Amino acid sequence: MQGYTVDAIVLGRSNLGERDRLVTLISRDRGKVRAVVRGANKTNSKLAGLIQPFSRSRLDLWSGRSLDGLRSGEVLESFRRLRTDFDGIAYASCMAEITGYIAQEGEKDEPLYLLLLTCFRALERGMDHVRVGAFFCVRVIKVLGVFPVLDQCVVCGGPVDAGAPLRFSQGGLTCARCRASGGLGTKISAHLCRLAENLRDIHPRELAGFRASREDLLALTELFLDYAEFQLDRRVNSRSFLDILG
Ligand SMILES: [Zn+2]
Repeated sequence: MQGYTVDAIVLGRSNLGERDRLVTLISRDRGKVRAVVRGANKTNSKLAGLIQPFSRSRLDLWSGRSLDGLRSGEVLESFRRLRTDFDGIAYASCMAEITGYIAQEGEKDEPLYLLLLTCFRALERGMDHVRVGAFFCVRVIKVLGVFPVLDQCVVCGGPVDAGAPLRFSQGGLTCARCRASGGLGTKISAHLCRLAENLRDIHPRELAGFRASREDLLALTELFLDYAEFQLDRRVNSRSFLDILG
C-alpha cells in the first residue's frame, strides 16, 4: 500500500468503534491529517504510544481510499510535562482546537505548525501559561492573515481617539466619524493595542522577557479568542477550561 511520512503534532483523538481510534494531526508539510489507528484501544498497542495528546512524532502512514492510517512511527517530543499539569492541558487543548479549525487537509501551513510547536515547547520548559496563551492567541490571528488594524481607523485611515472600539466585522479600530454608522465594537485601550502589536512582531525568543502584566495578557487572550471565534465563525469549546483557571 502506498504511504507517506509526516512530522506531526497530535491535535485530538476520538474512538472509532471499540478497537480503533481516529487521530487528528497537524503536519509540517501537509497541513491537517486525519488517520485511523488500528487497534489503538488494545492494551498492548504499540501505535497508541504514538498518538498521546499534544505529542510530536515522525509518523509513517498508509493512504486509503477514504481515510489514511498509521503504520508506524517514532516519538520526537512527548511534551510529558505539559500533558501532566492541568493548566498545561487547558492551554494546550485550546491551542490545539483552534489549530484544528484553521489547518486544512492537504494544505501546507508551516507558520501555523511552527506557532503551535513554539508554544508547546515554551509550556514544556515551564514558561507561564498566561504568557504563552496570549502569545498564541495574538499570533494565530496574524497567521490567519486577519490581524486587526490597531493604529488608525480601519475605514478612513484617519487617527483614532484613545479607547476607540475594535469592530470585529470591519477588522480594526474605528474613528468617531466612521463609528456613527452604527455598531458598538469591543472597547480596547491604546495600551492594549500597543501590547498586541508588540506581541505580533516580537521574535519568539523575546517572549520570556516580554514586559506585560498578567492582567493585560489575560485581557489580550480574551479579546483575541473572541476575535478568533468571530473570524472562524465557531465557538472554541476548550475555552471553558481557561475560564476555570481564571
Ligand atoms: Zn474613520
